[in-house]
Amino acid sequence: MAKYVYSFGKDGTDGDATMKNLLGGKGANLAEMAKIGLPVPSGFTITTEVCTYFYANGNQYPPELEAQVNDAMVAIEKTMGKKFGDNKDLPLLVSCRSGARESMPGMMDTVLNIGLNDKTVDVLAKKSGDERFAWDCYRRFVQMYGGVVLDMKPKSKTDHDPFEELLEKKKEKAGVKEDADLKPEHLKELVKEFKAAVKKQTGKDFPDDPMEQVWGAVGAVFGSWMNDRAIVYRRMYGIPHEWGTAVNVQAMVFGNMGNDCATGVALTRNGATGEKGITGDYLINAQGEDVVAGIRMPKKIEESLNKDMPVCWKQFAEVAMKLENHYKDVQDIEFTIERQNLWMLQTRNAKRTGFAAVRAAVDMVNEGLITPEQAIARIPANDITQLLQPVFSGAGLKGKTPIAKGINAGPGAATGQIHFQPDEAEAAWQKDNNAKIILVRMETTPEDLRGMKVANGILTSRGGAASHAALVSRQMGKACVCGCEAIAIDYKAETMTVGKETFKKGDWISVDGFTGNVYKGEVPTSPSEVLQVLFEKSLKPKDAPLYQCFQQLMSWSDRFRKLGVRTNADNPKESDQAIALGAEGIGLTRTEHMFFDHIDDFRKMILSETVADREKALAPLLGHQQKDFEGIFRAMKGRPVTIRLLDPPLHEFVPHEDKEQTDLAKKMGIKPEEVKRRVKELHEFNPMLGHRGCRLGIVYPEITRMQATAICQAAVAVMKEGIDCHPEIMIPLVGNITEYRNQEKIIREAATAVFKKAGVTPDYLVGTMIELPRACVTADKIAEGAEFFSFGTNDLTQTGLGISRDDYGTFINEYREMDIFSDDPFQTLDQEGVGGLMKIAVEKGKSARSDIKLGICGEHGGDPASVKFCHKIGLNYVSCSPLRLPVARLAAAQAAITEKKEKAARKAEGGCGCCANCKGGCGCKCCSNCKCGCKG
Ligand code: ADP
Ligand code: MG
Ligand code: MG
Repeated sequence: MAKYVYSFGKDGTDGDATMKNLLGGKGANLAEMAKIGLPVPSGFTITTEVCTYFYANGNQYPPELEAQVNDAMVAIEKTMGKKFGDNKDLPLLVSCRSGARESMPGMMDTVLNIGLNDKTVDVLAKKSGDERFAWDCYRRFVQMYGGVVLDMKPKSKTDHDPFEELLEKKKEKAGVKEDADLKPEHLKELVKEFKAAVKKQTGKDFPDDPMEQVWGAVGAVFGSWMNDRAIVYRRMYGIPHEWGTAVNVQAMVFGNMGNDCATGVALTRNGATGEKGITGDYLINAQGEDVVAGIRMPKKIEESLNKDMPVCWKQFAEVAMKLENHYKDVQDIEFTIERQNLWMLQTRNAKRTGFAAVRAAVDMVNEGLITPEQAIARIPANDITQLLQPVFSGAGLKGKTPIAKGINAGPGAATGQIHFQPDEAEAAWQKDNNAKIILVRMETTPEDLRGMKVANGILTSRGGAASHAALVSRQMGKACVCGCEAIAIDYKAETMTVGKETFKKGDWISVDGFTGNVYKGEVPTSPSEVLQVLFEKSLKPKDAPLYQCFQQLMSWSDRFRKLGVRTNADNPKESDQAIALGAEGIGLTRTEHMFFDHIDDFRKMILSETVADREKALAPLLGHQQKDFEGIFRAMKGRPVTIRLLDPPLHEFVPHEDKEQTDLAKKMGIKPEEVKRRVKELHEFNPMLGHRGCRLGIVYPEITRMQATAICQAAVAVMKEGIDCHPEIMIPLVGNITEYRNQEKIIREAATAVFKKAGVTPDYLVGTMIELPRACVTADKIAEGAEFFSFGTNDLTQTGLGISRDDYGTFINEYREMDIFSDDPFQTLDQEGVGGLMKIAVEKGKSARSDIKLGICGEHGGDPASVKFCHKIGLNYVSCSPLRLPVARLAAAQAAITEKKEKAARKAEGGCGCCANCKGGCGCKCCSNCKCGCKG
């Protein structure tokens, strides 16, 4: 019989931390904590398979489920020594908690205090000796159950929450501010009023039967997997919809039984900075979500728990360290203290900023907790870019005093215009993708995700370092200041007031997520600590602890990676910066950028009617280009430099405005009509597929000749200064070996002439960009000539998918929303399609020239998933913009480490381990007989 229910608790635990896919993250870790002897209230997990079954079968459960749940409930009763629905003795209450494989903070629903009704509440009051507590639980239960299971939550921001309204009225009437100050009689009235509201809105009575309540809650949790905000969340973080959620049913423990009780959340290291030491929030005499909901301002664990509850603090600190050592990672822990007894309710690997990820990982290696390999593997490669982002410091802050200070919840510096409504923020962003937005809210909820996503920074007036706003912005890598109590927000008036000053929607403010400071107006930013050391040299490494962590991680990455990393750079300054960030060469220099600096000469060339005129116009350009290349060669100090010959259509370089055309005609001594005519001639309907790339050099060989000459003369000149030089001359947009041969001939002739004259011959290569499907399919032929391939994946994506990058904006969002494309193919390589073409090109290229140099120079060269793919298919290097280099280095190391692990696994299975096809049985003895095609 299929097992759908897994129990956990001190009397026996079926699951463990490895079973996340089946039990969800929460369930698997509850089981693990129970297994290692931590105090976990007993419970059971209904597996994700039931969720899958539920959606595949019209919201029905597998027939075996009911009996398994009933058995597991009996087991809880036994361990806890209480009975569910007991009318005579202290009744067992349970919570019903969602839990997917990956945590999705606040996305799905939890119901606490299940099992209460008009009878059990009386028993609970009598036997606990605390009437207020019992009715507080009941009040919360009816409210949560009504919201989650009976669908009474407000549907939009402007809708009223019937329960919150009644609660507010009651507090007003009772003259109290906090929920906890309501008297039993108030709570009793509230429960009645809540139930009446349920009856009025749903037409049904509130369910009294405890088991019916459980099934209602279980159904609601499974149902919440497909609610709108959960779907949006999964799309944002690339979590598959098929995974499903598990449901955990667990005995309740109570943080709201009095002042010797508490509930809290904690991190074992700071989630924003990574600093060692427990940080977190707690509330005395409170239950569950009060801490994260931002209703009451929580206290800081690190500041006062040791004074409020010294014994529990000590025990908690020990448990937290035990968990961190056990999982060997920063833990995010939820706990409750019931009458001085500590209970663990959740642990998971903490979400963290890029700063915290790097700091904690490097520290843990230095503490001997993990290996460098583990440190590298666990940092999302993209996160490291956070360490390079601008900050507020020094000159920018001169003369500025903060208007308020909150909790520094998500590091980063952000300046923007105030928006109070997330949907308006999103609309502003849709109108202008460069709009700078600071989302200002009392607190954020999962409904606000879309608005948070487009904001540059987030500012809230309530909630601590574990609030929703803090958690989510940390994960999104956004600057966030939360719990900034000095600001008073009025949503209706669309204002925020600080002291005497009032800010309106649209006013500019700046938030510093490092310090928690909020500033009026726009504060100019300065380079990050890392770049102050590497680029500006205004900081010494020894004074820059963040830089030290960064550098440590990068040096470990370089130790493991097999892929080379190069940069796309067009001038000496970029080249210098790239070297500082680890570039081992240049993978793409675009020569057209240089032409813009000498645009008039270049325009003359374009407008020339005869070869002779063109050559005359090209002569000064040669000198300019040579100087530019010399600068780059000098900066690169002997590292290889790939230079692409002219690529864009000439139309891009000529003036299109009347006045400019007249000016140019004057300069050239010709009639404006002639300029106009020529510009018109150059117009193309589809320039991307028009007269560009090698097609230019083929029709105008003098351009290729000039460029090749400039490159070779520059190389010679630099070598004569004693600097080594390795130019790689790259022909763009080749689809046919005949095109390649045509251009190669011109290049080699020019090179030979230069070198002969100079008496120096640098090591140089001639190769091609691979950016057309035809080039991939005929790569064996092209490789007979080309000494290297560099995949131009921007164009290869355009030509491979038949999608124009300039025009896909009109449908890509719909494609993403409908999950037709899982990623934007211009950001993350379409591995199946475009990647498939690359594989063909690699295979065929190597078959014709075994030592062919292979690289990638499209935007994808700095995208982690694409970098990993490039490693897999055996490229020699990736090339990306300078600031993406750290990402590429880290991702390349991750790819190598994954490969090593996979090899070891294949070996363990009895294979040779040398290739993915070999699962043993190929008869290879590493690998002389290898029939799997891996050739050793
Ligand atoms: P989320 O996934 O949104 O964090 P949880 O299922 O973790 O939701 O529940 C939220 C909070 O409810 C927990 O942090 C805990 O404080 C409280 N809670 C859940 N189950 C129990 C329980 N059995 N006893 C006491 N408190 C609980
Ligand atoms: Mg939780
Ligand atoms: Mg291209």
